[in-house]
Amino acid sequence: MRYSQMLLPTTRETPAEAEVISHQLLVRGGFIRKLTSGMYTYLPLGVLALQRVANIVREEMNRAGAQEILMPMVQPGDLWMESGRWKKYGPELLRFRDRHDRDYCLGPTHEEVVTDIARRELHSYRQLPVNLYQIQTKFRDEIRPRFGLMRGREFMMKDAYSFDSDDSGANLSYETMRQAYVRIFQRCGLEFRAVEADSGTIGGSFSHEFMVLAEAGEDTLVICDACLYAANVEKAAIAPRQPVAQSVALMEMTRVATPGMKQVDTVADFLSVNATDIIKTMIYQADGVLVAALVRGDRKVQTVKLKNLLGAGEIESLTDEQVWQQARLPLGYVGPVGLPLKIIADQEVMAMINAVAGANEKGYHYTGVNPGRDFQPAVVGDLRQVAADDSCPLCAGRLRLTEGIEVGHIFKLGTSYSEVMKASFQDSDGLDKPFIMGCYGIGVSRVVAAAIEQNHDDRGIVFPVPLAPFQVIILNLGPKEDDYCQAAERLYTELRDGGLDVLYDDRDERPGSKFNDADLIGIPFRLTVGKTFAKEGKVELKIRKTGETRILTMEAMVSEVT
Ligand code: ATP
Ligand code: MG
Ligand code: MG
Ligand code: MG
Repeated sequence: MRYSQMLLPTTRETPAEAEVISHQLLVRGGFIRKLTSGMYTYLPLGVLALQRVANIVREEMNRAGAQEILMPMVQPGDLWMESGRWKKYGPELLRFRDRHDRDYCLGPTHEEVVTDIARRELHSYRQLPVNLYQIQTKFRDEIRPRFGLMRGREFMMKDAYSFDSDDSGANLSYETMRQAYVRIFQRCGLEFRAVEADSGTIGGSFSHEFMVLAEAGEDTLVICDACLYAANVEKAAIAPRQPVAQSVALMEMTRVATPGMKQVDTVADFLSVNATDIIKTMIYQADGVLVAALVRGDRKVQTVKLKNLLGAGEIESLTDEQVWQQARLPLGYVGPVGLPLKIIADQEVMAMINAVAGANEKGYHYTGVNPGRDFQPAVVGDLRQVAADDSCPLCAGRLRLTEGIEVGHIFKLGTSYSEVMKASFQDSDGLDKPFIMGCYGIGVSRVVAAAIEQNHDDRGIVFPVPLAPFQVIILNLGPKEDDYCQAAERLYTELRDGGLDVLYDDRDERPGSKFNDADLIGIPFRLTVGKTFAKEGKVELKIRKTGETRILTMEAMVSEVT
């Protein structure tokens, strides 16, 4: 591609609302432009970056035996009423009516549609297993769309759904996907961890989140550097067998009194405690206490409450009943005077706390909790310090806390959709049985942002080679000199013949702005036809990531790069 012909509007302006670096660089580098809140147009460079991720995902899904389909983005409300999610899903589901007054929604995910396909097209155990996937636009009316591509309202997802005839088959389908995901994120060149995302049900975990390690992540992980152990602090803490929760508690408080606290008894009361703008719900178990912490949109103010397990859509698959079940894990409670409560938060947060504390049993939930007043702090420590002191349950290595960006999530669904939607097949014994399902998502557009969060410097993006929109950029510093142009053209042709994706900066621009743009958009290899070309007929190769440069003849350069 010739730069002079490409719509590649780099800019120095950073939109005021762009809080995270990937958002800033995607705008400055001319990858995306905002249409409206949470919705972006991908300019040519943005499309190329998106396609890099999508291609890796597609290749690995196909390799794992999944089949690509394409389902409509608009979905009939009827199907959602059938599954029961029309009521449960909440305001993230954008609903509307057509001219005949029929209900529709924009698909935030496709379990209903794919289950409908399965019940119509799959009839016998002989047709199973089947794994169907698509790479397509999703819409979620996120309460606080932000961070550019990281949390859009419209975004690109790969979603896959497996159908099996028995449990062992379903487990195998799950494991196949888990391995495919590991390959996908390895091939993307990202540092990531797969973390167990459920509470460690007997027989192993059947929900994993794939987390790209980066500061801007909204999830907190505890990881071991010596081995691959990783757990999501919020999820790990639910499981009684996970040793991590105890170690990250910052403050231990013993309830001393209840003035000012209002006791609430029903789930409805519990969940209606005021909380707006919540981006993250964390549940912690610590020494027999279940605590939910909600992190507010500005992130700096964390409020410990137990509202909104459902409302923020963070754990959207939970029913009220499941909330209670979780709350009833044999973890104890906050309640009777004298029992310790541990809340994970830093001191600043504790100062602002307006907590709802409680768990486990009706009658043990309190709003308006004031920790200093109602609970006496007994232990105050540094969150990171405490975690670092703990050792890995697998290898006894040191643990550390880090932030992660959820780029993928796999889940064994079982028969929850197939049963309510009467999606069944005939088994070898002639009996009708519901499909055993799994679902597997990757935020394709979020991966682009996560890659930038993890790979950038003060000059711009540093794309991992597999995700770079172009592998090579050629800078012609003498666009008006014939010999410069001939050399650059020749490089351009030969490198493309060698199978590389090349951006040729043929613009009549000053060298400084060519260098700046090349660094900003993050192309891994930069070839400069400049001063050394005039002097010695040689070209400079610069590696974006390391800054390493080499001066080579044209011939040597072509064989070096291709
Ligand atoms: P989050 O916790 O970030 O809200 P989620 O758990 O709601 O994500 P899933 O339902 O697991 O998301 O969807 C699968 C994948 O889709 C996620 O792992 C993530 O990579 C991506 N994704 C979800 N919501 C968004 C969004 N608003 N913008 C971009 N990607 C998203
Ligand atoms: Mg999530
Ligand atoms: Mg979500
Ligand atoms: Mg998820």
